[in-house]
Amino acid sequence: MLTKDTAICIRALDYSETSQIVTFFTKATGKIDAIAKGSKRPKSAFDGSLEVFSYGKIVFYDSTKEKLAILTEFQQQPGFTHLANNLFALNCCLFGAELLNNLTNEHDPHPQLFDNFLQFLQNTNEIRDTLHASRDTLVLLILFQLALLKEVGLQPILNACVNCKTRYGSNWPEVYFSSSANGLICRDCEASFTDKIRMTQTAANCLNNLKSIADADEKTLNEIEKILVYHFTEILHRPPKMAKYILKP
Ligand SMILES: [Zn+2]
Repeated sequence: MLTKDTAICIRALDYSETSQIVTFFTKATGKIDAIAKGSKRPKSAFDGSLEVFSYGKIVFYDSTKEKLAILTEFQQQPGFTHLANNLFALNCCLFGAELLNNLTNEHDPHPQLFDNFLQFLQNTNEIRDTLHASRDTLVLLILFQLALLKEVGLQPILNACVNCKTRYGSNWPEVYFSSSANGLICRDCEASFTDKIRMTQTAANCLNNLKSIADADEKTLNEIEKILVYHFTEILHRPPKMAKYILKP
């Protein structure tokens, strides 16, 4: 069956001298693996070879869900060209793509998540190299990661203690985040949870009011990102490959 869709390439591997195997995150079909025959030839049918974050309208042929789809058309939109000039932004986007690839299943559509990811790439691509570029990029990355968790059904509970249900307030003397509990844990409950990290009230306040993330300082954003990397490491049972390029020591 020939299917038309809008897609972002989230992984591209060389398959032969002239062909590639690519993973697309598509708007209507979800994630698919496809072979792009002849994509590396100078005059390919796909507007040139495919790279991570190549984006546009695709047509693919899918005989069974077990086999690789065959890419037949790809009209590439102008790419996210500024990412190449901003290594931290590029790494954040690659990290986002890695998480997206690991947390979604093939042929499981998430149109809202597709829009979130596209917006994340566009906004990150628009950040220019100013004094606050890495801070602004972290804001976008954190918001994308939270949207991703929500869309795949793993939204963490950040407004109350997961265990005793006490509502979070900035008067909590201590705040913890536990990955296995999937949310905040208060001081009275923390002893029952072995996997947890302590967090500052500033970070917990931020996570309780996502609008305030945009104004958070870089130290708080790094703390939140560290918590998210710990959480993704627990979910995936291994550290995400790109995490070491994101976390500041
Ligand atoms: Zn509690």
